[in-house]
Amino acid sequence: MLPIILGGEKVETEASVDVVNPANGQVIDRVCVAGREETKRAVEVAEEAFQEFSRLPLKDRTKILLRVADLIEEDREKLEVTLSKESGKPIRDARVEVTRAIHLFRSTAEEAKLILEGKTYRVDGYEYPPGNERRLVFSVREPLGVVGAILPFNFPANSFAHKVSPNIAVGNAIVVKPSTSTPITSLMLGEIMYRAGLPRGVLSVLPGGGETVGSEIVENRKVKGITFTGSTAVGVGIASRAVLTGKRIMMEMGGSDPIIVMKDADLGKAVDVSVRARFEYSGQNCNAGKRIIVHESVYHKFVQEFTRKVKSLKVGDPLEESTDLGPVISHNAVMDMERVVKDSIQRGGKVYEGSKPDHGFYFPPTVIENANLDMVAMRTEVFGPIAPIAMFSDVEEAVQMANATDYGLQASIFSSDVKLALKVARELKAGAVIINDSTRLRWDSLPFGGVGMSGLGSREGIRNTMLTLSEEKIVSVDLS
Ligand code: NAD
Repeated sequence: MLPIILGGEKVETEASVDVVNPANGQVIDRVCVAGREETKRAVEVAEEAFQEFSRLPLKDRTKILLRVADLIEEDREKLEVTLSKESGKPIRDARVEVTRAIHLFRSTAEEAKLILEGKTYRVDGYEYPPGNERRLVFSVREPLGVVGAILPFNFPANSFAHKVSPNIAVGNAIVVKPSTSTPITSLMLGEIMYRAGLPRGVLSVLPGGGETVGSEIVENRKVKGITFTGSTAVGVGIASRAVLTGKRIMMEMGGSDPIIVMKDADLGKAVDVSVRARFEYSGQNCNAGKRIIVHESVYHKFVQEFTRKVKSLKVGDPLEESTDLGPVISHNAVMDMERVVKDSIQRGGKVYEGSKPDHGFYFPPTVIENANLDMVAMRTEVFGPIAPIAMFSDVEEAVQMANATDYGLQASIFSSDVKLALKVARELKAGAVIINDSTRLRWDSLPFGGVGMSGLGSREGIRNTMLTLSEEKIVSVDLS
């Protein structure tokens, strides 16, 4: 049984959960779960440890981050296999995720020196307050305190890295709650953090329920900031409660990213990129291209090529090198997908299915032709391998379809007319618009997040997280 990590101590709790491999339904390991009491204790321990940790010179904190990156590299194979097993993510994609986590720890160490600087303010240009000519005004960046991090199931390594690494650079202490579907990778990374020299108490990794560990993190007044990644339904509830206890919030929530294919698009590229953007990790990425909107003049050709490609995808064991698609995360997710397909058929969709193994939580990669805005698949977030493809005749219609959702994470446009693509980009509700490339593009240093129901508060990204979860303190000295 795997213990929780409470401030650096491995603690066995009474309650536990089975972590199940979604590819075959077998138990990988049993993991202890924390409750409200352990979470309160972790916050107290973090608050104590923060006093000293926040005073550690930046060079010492970044040394820990660089050492973490090295240790992840040493343990990478074990991490990749564990990540693949608990999440059902194909091993090729699990490797990419672990590589990103390594880069993320290294990039944070590099960027912290520049981002965590203060400024000198030129105040002698202002009449008010009087006497500015005799003042020296500058600012310093200070840590926020104890931060709570709530992770989704789909990126156990990358989410951990995105939330933990910048906080360590800033000098915050952090309590992490991984998803109970994929807690083992986070526990392994937590253990690595301490092996890399993190002082006791600074980090806790507490697998546990949303209503227990999650709620305690959100409601505890000693926690000064929340960084959350997960669904919109859960995120908005957390945000409202977090604000009541005066927390700074970074809420990265769901997405239903559109891909618009114009009549002059490079169709081969648009098909290849869209298939990958929609079906990578069985469609369980926040910025997957979840709705495809294609010009009528190329619609049938696009659907034909797209479907041919989808049928050739290899769906199978995530640990096999040649697997393109593994399972979805749970039996519930399979049932959700069944409901989406049923709804699409009832509303006039024509369905094509790829193959799937008959054991485990698999759902076949599915294409829905004749998709329309009445369908659930065209308005909400479908977190699985279903690609609705809708037809448009003029650009306004494409924009209207793309924007017909409460979400606004990312969007893609395929066109050889860059000027037109830029005009459309201006009309789209999205945190990022990607021209002639995948909705899945993300640079870990840059702000990442969405508009509307895709994000609340500040956006994630190494630089942004450091800025959001630290304080700029202004200091004024009267030199007279
Ligand atoms: P989820 O919302 O079900 O769970 C996310 C986390 O919140 C889990 O750790 C869960 O235990 C916790 N939680 C649940 N109820 C809670 C409560 N009442 N209080 C506190 N915590 C609570 O999401 P999921 O299924 O794990 O992840 C998939 C979702 O995450 C999708 O909607 C996806 O789009 C989104 N996501 C967004 C991004 C992004 O950067 N925008 C990235 C990855 C995933």
